[in-house]
Amino acid sequence: MGEQAIEYGDGTRVVHAGIPAPVDGQPLRPGPVFAAPYHLSGDPASTPYGYGRDANPTWTWYERALEELEGGPAVVFASGMAAISAVLFTVLRPGDAVVMPSDCYYSARALAQEELAAYGVEVRFAPTAGDAQGALLDGARLLWLETPSNPGLEVCDIRRLADAAHAVGALVAVDNTTATPLGQRPLQLGADFSVASDTKALTGHSDLLLGHVAARDPQWAARVRRWRKLTGGVPGPMETWLAHRSLATLDVRLERQCASARAIAEWLLGRPEVRHVRYPGLPTDPSYEVAAKQMRRFGFLIGFELPDAARAEAFLAACRLVGTATSFGGVHTTAERRARWGGDAVPEGFVRLSVGCENTEDLIADLAQALG
Ligand code: PLP
Repeated sequence: MGEQAIEYGDGTRVVHAGIPAPVDGQPLRPGPVFAAPYHLSGDPASTPYGYGRDANPTWTWYERALEELEGGPAVVFASGMAAISAVLFTVLRPGDAVVMPSDCYYSARALAQEELAAYGVEVRFAPTAGDAQGALLDGARLLWLETPSNPGLEVCDIRRLADAAHAVGALVAVDNTTATPLGQRPLQLGADFSVASDTKALTGHSDLLLGHVAARDPQWAARVRRWRKLTGGVPGPMETWLAHRSLATLDVRLERQCASARAIAEWLLGRPEVRHVRYPGLPTDPSYEVAAKQMRRFGFLIGFELPDAARAEAFLAACRLVGTATSFGGVHTTAERRARWGGDAVPEGFVRLSVGCENTEDLIADLAQALG
């Protein structure tokens, strides 16, 4: 009789993900392996570990953890953008068309517009909201989704769009950075690739850059892995090891972050100087219905508008607990006026708030005094 699989909770899954079986005298989790060449005599196929650009045991442990969480083989990269490039450049060839969100992470859009287009790839853009990308699928090779989108927190229906893309023979990739695999599982919702910046909430301590690709089809994972070897932008073992350590607390971090985000979003709704509060977990949010269907947690990001750039900057400067910084997903609450960078279609007073692990009531008190 086969052993019955146990469905563990998220906390248990992240604590145990990718951890090797116990061996007496060995640490509970192996330390980072620093190696360029490894000892290798005779047939190179006798071990996966011959040269540090091809493979590293620290990557292997972390990738096993990601595979358990994503539901498909994973490949770790030096950054989220390295992971995004790997999928775009492995899948797309001159003459192909890709359908991108017009409101996704700025650098992903710029990469497509500046580099893919120069290789003869047709780049089509449509907004995330309302599943508008679905109208551009004819003849496309790849549909690229980002949901919830950064910075606008728009949501699209992954299952619906993946079905439509597959019906015309296109592959589907989801940038799952804002949700994390505990918030949303793109491969289970029909996507072929789940891509993320692990720099953000997945690792959550604002101290490293990393990214990953998980693929439903192991052959695509192998193509992406080969891309990493050939292009050589490989992750460092120390960053990868730290990422795996940080992953163990993902469930407890998200529990606090998502609960606080919901409370703060509700509180912001009642502030007269604040407009257009966006949080996919607010029942009044335009994204709520789709988000509730496909997300397991609504996340830690909130968007809102203050009347103008000066008011937004003054608010940020007055915060004591909320640091002004780009990026998001860390244990420290941070915020930024997103329009300061240019490139995103957001109002001058738009603030993206990334809720961390501080106590909810302390954060609300700080936001209140800063708004005041
Ligand atoms: N995807 C999203 C949604 C992001 O917000 C970011 C970075 O902000 C990236 C990808 C790129 O990740 P990285 O900075 O790790 O290259």
